[in-house]
Amino acid sequence: MSIDPELLARHLRQQAELGGRELYLDRLEPAALLSALAGKAPVSAPTVIHDRTAPASPRAKPPAGAGSLVSLGRQAAGCKLCRLHAGRTNVVFGEGDPEADVVVVGEAPGQEEDRTGRPFVGRAGKLLDLMLMSIGLPRPRVYICNVLKCRPPENRNPFADEVEHCTTTFLHGQLESIAPRVMLAVGKFAAQVLCASQESIGRLRGRVHMYRGTPLVVSYHPAYLLRSPNMIRVAWQDLQLVRRMLDEQA
Ligand code: URA
Repeated sequence: MSIDPELLARHLRQQAELGGRELYLDRLEPAALLSALAGKAPVSAPTVIHDRTAPASPRAKPPAGAGSLVSLGRQAAGCKLCRLHAGRTNVVFGEGDPEADVVVVGEAPGQEEDRTGRPFVGRAGKLLDLMLMSIGLPRPRVYICNVLKCRPPENRNPFADEVEHCTTTFLHGQLESIAPRVMLAVGKFAAQVLCASQESIGRLRGRVHMYRGTPLVVSYHPAYLLRSPNMIRVAWQDLQLVRRMLDEQA
């Protein structure tokens, strides 16, 4: 079965406009989507503003990144650097292709992620999966992680010291080890940490930032999109910017 990605994107936008929330995967047979969307999503004329410090050609992947990823993961499993270790069921270090071209960074594990030890497996994760698939990136082809590796109680916002510990000890090394070609930060915390900025998502999105030499796109958190489906259209533009950045480096 083949599905035109443009038609699919239109269908999903219509669903969002009609107030559809979590029916996407039920109606749209993930297996068919995975195969149909394995290719490129269509892209319109480039409007990307390049940071002048960005390398002109794709970065070469450093070898043996996966080794340090594994050792960082082991270290995280026993981490007690902040108060969050006391309430966790599982550390949610991250998962996916250790040599992925795209890394998605979210905020922190929620209840389902804490229970399973896997990032973005709840309702927000399903929407994220679908949005990634729509630009030809099924979940196994990306790497997904969070700023915090442990769930804050009642999903409260991360505290500054928690962000500091988790990013300096794990996140920066994790990203360096994977060395993606493009990064996507979803939600305010990931965006502000990776952009080293206090600006809102509304101001940060729509342009390409650089994170330690890697192009970085910012978008709304999928949990927010579930509550505000009218913003899915905007988030789609961000995902297409990710696709465009990848295609430009191909
Ligand atoms: N929200 C996040 O930011 N990350 C997850 O893994 C799940 C929900």
